[in-house]
Amino acid sequence: MRYLIFSDIHSNLEALEAVLTHAEGEGFDGMICLGDFVGYGANPDECVQRVASYEEASAVVGNHDAALLDPSERQFFNPVATAGILYSEDRLGEDSKAYLQGLPITLDFDGFMAVHSSPAFPEHWTYVLQPGEATEAFRSMIRPLAFIGHTHFPIVYTEDGFIKPFVPGDPVVVDSERKVLVNVGSVGQPRDGDSRAAYVIYDSEEHSVRIFRVEYDIDRAAAKILDAGLPPMLADRLRRGY
Ligand code: ZN
Repeated sequence: MRYLIFSDIHSNLEALEAVLTHAEGEGFDGMICLGDFVGYGANPDECVQRVASYEEASAVVGNHDAALLDPSERQFFNPVATAGILYSEDRLGEDSKAYLQGLPITLDFDGFMAVHSSPAFPEHWTYVLQPGEATEAFRSMIRPLAFIGHTHFPIVYTEDGFIKPFVPGDPVVVDSERKVLVNVGSVGQPRDGDSRAAYVIYDSEEHSVRIFRVEYDIDRAAAKILDAGLPPMLADRLRRGY
């Protein structure tokens, strides 16, 4: 089975469309979104509807989605993130809201799990930014493999402490011998210095994970952010990829 897995769309419809078109060319049987459909960008409702339109799609909730649904989740949000949530709140249709409300915090599949933040206390939206935080995550993983997002930085951690830079054209082999944590990066707001949208394809028969980076119309997405009256830095950072 080939799973298309991506995260952190953040209302960037141009990036999402580019990812879906590219991934359809690669081929997939299942689709998993790791959360943060909304926030930051100009098209929250369209992004939720686009993913929800795929019968094979499943998803978990992200911290921005949770903040939209529950204002008490906004307490640690900075003013820029809050502006994105208030904008999304005004524009999300009832169907999209119901879709987000129905999302679980983790999903279990045969041999792997999907979660927005760390598998350790996912409801606390813990970041995995360092090997120590990865170690904590491995302790709480009952499956050998987990796909996560949240940091917008694609990277692979393995249980024996090896951190692999996650680059296109360099598939990562995953086996059940040692636990592996795969951060799939971000569709709509990459923060690793590469402005292209990120997604992965996990082939459960080949035991491989491949990352893809896709160019999209950044100028259009950035112009829409400015037209919407969202903070200008949200447009700038799309170009910087950081
Ligand atoms: Zn995010």
